[in-house]
Amino acid sequence: MPHRSINELSRFIGLKWQEQDIESFIIIMKRDIKGLSYNELDKVIIKEGFPSYRAKQIYDWLYLKKVNTFRQMSNLPLDLIHYLESTFNFASLGCIKQNRSKDGTTKYLFQLSDKYLIESVLIRGKRRNTVCLSSQVGCLWHCLFCVSGKKGFQRNLKAEEIVEQLISVQRTSGEQINNIVYMGMGEPFNNFEQLIKSINIINDPKGINIGARKITISTCGIIPGINRLALNPLQIELSVSLHSAEDWIRDYLMPVNKKYPLKKLIAACKKYTEKKNRQVTFEYLMLKGINDSREQARKLSRLISGFKSKVNLIIYNPVSFYTKLLPSEEDAVLAFQQVLQNNHIPVTTRHSKGQDIQAACGQLRSNYLRFQGNSVKQ
Ligand code: SF4
Repeated sequence: MPHRSINELSRFIGLKWQEQDIESFIIIMKRDIKGLSYNELDKVIIKEGFPSYRAKQIYDWLYLKKVNTFRQMSNLPLDLIHYLESTFNFASLGCIKQNRSKDGTTKYLFQLSDKYLIESVLIRGKRRNTVCLSSQVGCLWHCLFCVSGKKGFQRNLKAEEIVEQLISVQRTSGEQINNIVYMGMGEPFNNFEQLIKSINIINDPKGINIGARKITISTCGIIPGINRLALNPLQIELSVSLHSAEDWIRDYLMPVNKKYPLKKLIAACKKYTEKKNRQVTFEYLMLKGINDSREQARKLSRLISGFKSKVNLIIYNPVSFYTKLLPSEEDAVLAFQQVLQNNHIPVTTRHSKGQDIQAACGQLRSNYLRFQGNSVKQ
């Protein structure tokens, strides 16, 4: 279809469209080149009569040199550039806001081609840099402590939109990225196909080449997603947001628990560790007076004892105008940690990064939308 002239296409569709309407239609119909795996690109290139090594050259331009247009691919022949231009889109995300925290964390607000907004975060560390990626616009699950789900779910991201977040962060920051976490806006397992496709592209040694063990998927506890990941050969890290060892508290904090309650969730995690021989990390947000007592630490120890797992206690980053939840006192965090250690549960404590730049999931987007009104999609 991209090879047809505007007039041919107009006759083909049978509508009297304006030229610019048809051009927009063609752009929508084209696939984005970054949605192709290396093997898919290689097949396309060979099918069009170009030698296979051209696919590697294109891959280098896309993921190593990170160019923005096909015209910049200066070692490609003109006929190949014309073919690529007429067949593929070259989407890039519009960076409409960038906030850098005192602790080095940078939060990005990106605009998609259909004007929806998503967030990504660069977390700079002494030995490694991590990028936190979004997998959906909005989210189905209304976790009490999270801003992303407050406006509901809008749409899934395509693999290329997920990959492009990473490339845009690399391009704008100039930083080497060592780790990826799917912990931004959205529930990754509710967008399983595009999630795995994006991981395969990010992991591909011919391109971005970030090892599977440096990639973490964080889920709110979608059991079918955990089961599907258990069957995937990639050695990806799995992190499950638990936040309570009691159903009634988890129901309150995370409505997903009504669909996938703790007993079934823990059973799925156990099966996952047995199948993959890998540990699961349980994320536990420390919330004052809600889930941070010694008794609750004992319940958590009982719930997850006996299989490969560790607990990551997170000091809550309050989102004042959305919820009255408060972070636990330091004493409570230490006591909670001690109980887990006494029960031989491996545990670490992590402070939320970028507190001064609205780095909680969905916070930057939400604040931006509050002040922009109708000029962007909600
Ligand atoms: S914490 Fe995750 S699953 Fe829950 S609402 Fe936010 S983005 Fe969705």
